[in-house]
Amino acid sequence: RAKKVGGNRVERYSAQMNEEALHRLEMDSHLRKAVEENELFLCYQPIVDIHTGAVKATEALVRWRHPKLGLVRPDEFIPLAEETGVIHEIGRWVLRTACLQTKRWQKMTGNDDLAVFVNVSAVQFQHERFVGDVKQALRQSQLPPSCLHLELTEHSMLRHLPSTLRTMDELRRLGVGIAVDDFGSGYSSFHYLKQLPATILKIDRAFIEHLHTNASDEAIVKAMITMGRGLGLETIAEGVETVEQLDRLRDLQCTYAQGYALCPPLMAEEATPYVAGVRK
Ligand code: C2E
Ligand code: MG
Ligand code: MG
Ligand code: MG
Repeated sequence: RAKKVGGNRVERYSAQMNEEALHRLEMDSHLRKAVEENELFLCYQPIVDIHTGAVKATEALVRWRHPKLGLVRPDEFIPLAEETGVIHEIGRWVLRTACLQTKRWQKMTGNDDLAVFVNVSAVQFQHERFVGDVKQALRQSQLPPSCLHLELTEHSMLRHLPSTLRTMDELRRLGVGIAVDDFGSGYSSFHYLKQLPATILKIDRAFIEHLHTNASDEAIVKAMITMGRGLGLETIAEGVETVEQLDRLRDLQCTYAQGYALCPPLMAEEATPYVAGVRK
């Protein structure tokens, strides 16, 4: 029946079905099974040095290929996984898989500096086992700690600040990097930012979108980059979709960029030519 109606309506119809189905499912058991049955996979999006064009790293982005629902995006299942606690299993799997893949790429390409950025949710970060999980993933993969960067949003960093700071310090002592994801989108205050042992700021896509047409956005991005430099932090612009945005970011001395203008998230095999520097 759905096939007979117009294109948009088919999409809306299946999106609605998707949503209803998601609600009907017992997500916890399904998600647990997803980990065991290899239904999760990672896409990798290159993070590029704006000045040289070299791929410095990738960001690992999880996806769920559900046997009935098809592809489920992280925004749809990560919040649920956090609620039920299955995020710990998922997170462990993501860490291990991303580290193993990056080590494989390092061996394959001879680029020993190739790094990976892994998203970590607040719930996961609060778990007493978290630092142990990170150590285990590094040990299993033999990936140098300096090649692993954990991404946390400023919002999740400010939850339970004292314990977050302790965990961050521990990770920094290991040599692992810490990136502030979606920077500027939360309730960050300079007072907190000053205390956080972060190493990288990822400028939220919302500020990049109208960068070359909106003077306020440009002023804000410029200030973020300058502040980052002052605090000894590198900056990554997220969601760079056009060459104009990229050119502007280069002028503003942003260090790295990530976005559709450079490369979308890809399956590991598809990303290989990019990390090998064969394709730009
Ligand atoms: P994020 O960490 O801020 O990731 C960036 C999102 O922007 C990704 O969506 C990516 O596919 C998308 N993106 C990349 N370039 C562009 C662009 O040029 N334009 C636009 N419009 N979008 C772009 P994705 O993969 O759907 O992930 C959504 C969010 O889910 C992530 O936001 C992150 O917060 C979370 N997430 C993804 N993977 C994981 C994971 O393994 N663990 C946890 N805890 N969260 C994850
Ligand atoms: Mg991220
Ligand atoms: Mg982000
Ligand atoms: Mg995000």
